[in-house]
Amino acid sequence: DLLVVGSANADLVIGVERRPGAGETVLGSDLAVHPGGKGANQAAAAARLGARTALLARVGDDDHGRLLLESQRSAGVDTVGVLVGEVPTGVALITVDPSGDNSIVVSPGANGRLTPQDVRAAVSLFHASRVVSVQLEIPLETVVEVVRNLAPESRFVLNPSPPRPLPREVLDACDPLVVNEHEARVLLGGSLVSEEPEDWARILRAKGPRSVVVTLGAEGALVASAEGVSRVPSVKVDAVDTTGAGDAFTAALAWKLGTGTDLAGAAAYAARVGAAAVTKAGAQASYPTAAEVDAL
Ligand code: ADP
Repeated sequence: DLLVVGSANADLVIGVERRPGAGETVLGSDLAVHPGGKGANQAAAAARLGARTALLARVGDDDHGRLLLESQRSAGVDTVGVLVGEVPTGVALITVDPSGDNSIVVSPGANGRLTPQDVRAAVSLFHASRVVSVQLEIPLETVVEVVRNLAPESRFVLNPSPPRPLPREVLDACDPLVVNEHEARVLLGGSLVSEEPEDWARILRAKGPRSVVVTLGAEGALVASAEGVSRVPSVKVDAVDTTGAGDAFTAALAWKLGTGTDLAGAAAYAARVGAAAVTKAGAQASYPTAAEVDAL
């Protein structure tokens, strides 16, 4: 089984002709509200593929929290680990202009209150999970506690997003660390050192992770482990909206690793899932079933 520990947000989206300056008001489109947050996205993506998936997260006792619980349940996620508290559900306020560029303000809300104590209290979820997948939209001390509570046989997958420097204890546990170019740059200290993603993967792996996966958008991905570095073929599709593609990729990767597939094979499958996810608008709304991935 897969356990995702991470964020759950309501994405509030308004289309605008242009963004307001300080002190200014502009009129926008009707409001669209979508379930989001990297944790909720990963859990929904995995469950939709058919993975037995649980989410450990926090939401508020409010309409956004209920929207998230509902969308997780309809994707097939076990929500016993979704804690409901006093603090409002995390929100992303998103404006999109006609060229498709967006500006985002995030209120972490309840995501910021997912504590190490919440992790310790979820020990039964940890024991039931072969793979635990985490991102960084929750407090770092909570991520550290996840690493300390892994069951002996279970595997830790980390997408360090939004990226920040990580303690050695967390880096050492990653198998794999999954990064895009931006995340690789931050973890490498602000500069990529080399033009070659193979080099980023090698240098990142030297910082502790047992394996590293670099996602390269339309170029696919590459994997680095003790066996060396290899490219994962990309899948040619007509991209409509890349929102949430990385979350779908990581979820699919984590699930496949849990079924015993090797890293290169799991990443190849994940690249097909990521490609399928960019062919439709939205994040969770774009996630494919296993049959849709096979048909690609
Ligand atoms: P992120 O969303 O974190 O920036 P990427 O853009 O690298 O992550 O996308 C994750 C994965 O999704 C890629 O490794 C690739 O497999 C797949 N993917 C993303 N964009 C495309 C695309 N335009 N065509 C085909 N596959 C894509």
